[in-house]
Amino acid sequence: MLHAELREAVYRANIALAQSGLVMGTFGNVSAVDRLAGVCVIKPSGVPYAELTAEHMVAVSLETGESIDGALRPSSDTPTHLELYRAFGCGAVVHTHSEYATVFAQARLPIRCMGTTHADYFRGDIPVTRALTPDEIAHDYELNTGRVIVETFATGGIVASETPAVLVANHGPFTWGPDASKAVEYARVLEYLARLEWRVKAIAADAPRPGVQLVDKHYRRKHGPEAYYGQMTGAVLWDLDGTLVDSGEYHWQSWRDTLSREDFDLTYDRFLASFGQKNDRILRGWLGEDATVERIERLGDAKEAEYRRLAREGGLEPLPGAAQWLARLKHEGWRQAVATSAPRLNAVVMLQACGLEEFFETIVSAEDVSVGKPDPEVFHAAAVRLDTPPDRCIVVEDAAAGIEAARRAGMRCIGVSSTATLDADIAVRSLTDLPADAFARLLSARRA
Ligand SMILES: [Zn+2]
Repeated sequence: MLHAELREAVYRANIALAQSGLVMGTFGNVSAVDRLAGVCVIKPSGVPYAELTAEHMVAVSLETGESIDGALRPSSDTPTHLELYRAFGCGAVVHTHSEYATVFAQARLPIRCMGTTHADYFRGDIPVTRALTPDEIAHDYELNTGRVIVETFATGGIVASETPAVLVANHGPFTWGPDASKAVEYARVLEYLARLEWRVKAIAADAPRPGVQLVDKHYRRKHGPEAYYGQMTGAVLWDLDGTLVDSGEYHWQSWRDTLSREDFDLTYDRFLASFGQKNDRILRGWLGEDATVERIERLGDAKEAEYRRLAREGGLEPLPGAAQWLARLKHEGWRQAVATSAPRLNAVVMLQACGLEEFFETIVSAEDVSVGKPDPEVFHAAAVRLDTPPDRCIVVEDAAAGIEAARRAGMRCIGVSSTATLDADIAVRSLTDLPADAFARLLSARRA
């Protein structure tokens, strides 16, 4: 998204917020981000709403908070917003001092989930942060406000994308969402829920809470994988190695060491040419057709055990942009699977080592298919598990064999490679180069 578009969206959301009656004086602000560009656009500090224009919106670096091109100072709450962007995969943040939500913040009481209106938007109670310490108030107050929000979710085991709102103790509410208009909608709903909760407490403070089944029923109707309310999205099938995580060095080391014990001298070029294939096929290529099945299995197992040892001990980092895209797509309701040629145990170890496990509903691995890529079986299996037709599946791959498999599966694909030019529907050098609307574009351009 261009800065101008983001500025316009943030401006419109700030105006919508002002007109919603949630804002008292200038106590309210909306920001939104373009994660690929690394930019956050936020309302300027201290400009009355009546005088605001889109040009007044200030662009700051998502990473450093430094102003990029705006002449005005960004809202003083900017460090709070930035901390939420860093911790939660959201696209926009809203802060108000709306009356009833602020009453609960001042009383340091959560807004309990007492009915289906609440559960339609938020999966559980809206939590209250702890109070800031004198030291946290004296130094980096706004940043610490963000930190205490993040802490509340981390220690409470609350998923920020499922409960996109918080009450900051003795201050007021923050909400967030995939985009600015959604975050404003959550702020309005939150205020309404606070008013309901106020009245419930007034007439029946001890009223029983709704059953977890009812809450979950309403939440799931509108959110996540089983949503049947509103728009259906699609599924994203991720190749793992080389696409989300680069563990090529561990593969090279483990193959080389395993084979050198068999007096087989593996060259790096032959190793590179094996990418994306299953072990039996790789080893047949190297050892020849007369290698026994037992030997192939034994060497494959030894290599994978060594590989997992290296990954566990050496650790792994997601590739640039991977964690951000996974969080964003999950937030937008896309179903996501790993579809890999690797053994299941490897995939699990890799996802754990780089903290990406939570984004996937399923892993389809070497054990689940009889033929590896470029055969489309692995993608077909993933589509079946996600209950999504192939023309609503988008594959992300770094290897030519994977791109071919996606095509044969009748799926659109995104190729990510800094070394090869891939024949994909969209080809980029890094996930950070992927346009913000890439997945939506491919879904709408799907084959009829
Ligand atoms: Zn405030």
